[in-house]
Amino acid sequence: MSITRYVSAALIGAMWSAAEAAAQQPAAPSRGAVQGAAVRTATRKYREAHEADIAREFADLLAIPNVASDSVNIRRNTATVIELLRRRGVSARALEGDGGPPAVYGELRTPGAARTVVFYAHCDGSLAAGAKVISTPAPGQRVNGESRIYARSASDDKAAIIAMLSALDALRSANIAPSVNLKFFFEGEEEAGSSHLRRMLETHADLLRADAWVFCDGPVHQSGRQQVVFGARGVMGLELTTYGPTRALHSGHYGNWAPNPAVLMATLIASMRDDDGRITIAHFADDVRPISAAERAALGALPMSDTTLRKTLEMGATEANNAPLAERIMLPALNVRGIKVGGVRELAANAIPTEASASIDFRLVPDQKPERVRELVETHLRSRGYYIVRDTPDSATRMAHPKIVRAEWEGGYAATRAPMDIPFSRALLAAASAGATNPPLAVPMLGGSLPTSTFEQVLGVRLVVLPIANYDNNQHAANENIRMQNLWDGIELFAAVMARVGHEWKESTVP
Ligand SMILES: [Zn+2]
Repeated sequence: MSITRYVSAALIGAMWSAAEAAAQQPAAPSRGAVQGAAVRTATRKYREAHEADIAREFADLLAIPNVASDSVNIRRNTATVIELLRRRGVSARALEGDGGPPAVYGELRTPGAARTVVFYAHCDGSLAAGAKVISTPAPGQRVNGESRIYARSASDDKAAIIAMLSALDALRSANIAPSVNLKFFFEGEEEAGSSHLRRMLETHADLLRADAWVFCDGPVHQSGRQQVVFGARGVMGLELTTYGPTRALHSGHYGNWAPNPAVLMATLIASMRDDDGRITIAHFADDVRPISAAERAALGALPMSDTTLRKTLEMGATEANNAPLAERIMLPALNVRGIKVGGVRELAANAIPTEASASIDFRLVPDQKPERVRELVETHLRSRGYYIVRDTPDSATRMAHPKIVRAEWEGGYAATRAPMDIPFSRALLAAASAGATNPPLAVPMLGGSLPTSTFEQVLGVRLVVLPIANYDNNQHAANENIRMQNLWDGIELFAAVMARVGHEWKESTVP
């Protein structure tokens, strides 16, 4: 029987106390290693019996607004998640940052475990419309896997939190102990750019000490398969402006005499990247880490959806002689986000415009450093004869330099990519795949950017990304949603990882 597509916060709130009362008593966990298939079967059985409870607990959490700047409601989220963790026997509290919203910290020690893994998710969501229509499953009712919950943060990123909590419940009810000490860190301002994250990690570095982090955010592979992703590209934004005359000039009277900022900008962009996406800035690729044999093998094993994608997008060809997408995102990219100058069609004038601006984003890969990238780009601008300014140039500056470019950098961060053949990577992949009929894909790198480098730099740890949301989840847009089967599969994935990763983690697998 299928539930609704929408969930009502108010209704769910009222039904919550019943679900709360059903919280089970902890049993003594079994000490020995339980095989992956058994973990998955037990988790599935638990989930099938508690689908309505899980859906209602989830909806209750979704009902709390969570824009990072809304400090009152962010604190309500924090308090709620802390309570949900405590109910599972996790010792949990709020971590205060330096002016930003608090994060949630939780700890669950496993007697005898040699290692500690932190599970990351974020409590805050992006700004947009919330949930509306009402209907929820009755207690004990099954929930169709193809139904979806539509709400802000449904997929990004509260589903991950609910999946972790439900995984803990499933393990406990089956008497299966986690194989590592577990820590939880749920950030409160990821969607707002994590500006206080570095300070937060520095302040609480001792508490957050661990052998590795599992970063639970983002969607599964476009093929629908779950994926274990070993890295994410970094990102840097750049706004460029070139200048012509201080007022638009008649192109007949002044064409061939006054410099045209549109042409200057076009030439400048063309000097930085070619039609195949190759960045032609000197030394730009010097720091790019080569693709390892393990990564190359993983890339080769990924399902090839390029042709379908190309057809869907009606692209006659893709860059670099139709090189595979998965390989292309292993390289840095220079993307032109937009160009603005003059006017076209009905707005066209036979005139030389006064200035042209271009908005650019660089996607970085290991081991490029943002400071170095900035230096190389600016050296390139100077090599093209440009004098670089940060603000609108005054008359004296304009007269003193034949070519001026205004360069404004946005904050950015580096990429990370955990080697696939280190013990933790192997252990995580083995744990995530253990007993799975459809094991997750091993993906070297996510094309999008995540602030994983901040964790790597401050805490000196390895991070691997374990996303569970459907790829068509509309995150950051209207009608954000989670497909229930993705949540169910996510619970199984997290339970398998918690139960198995410590047992799979063998130092003997050091390359
Ligand atoms: Zn997210």
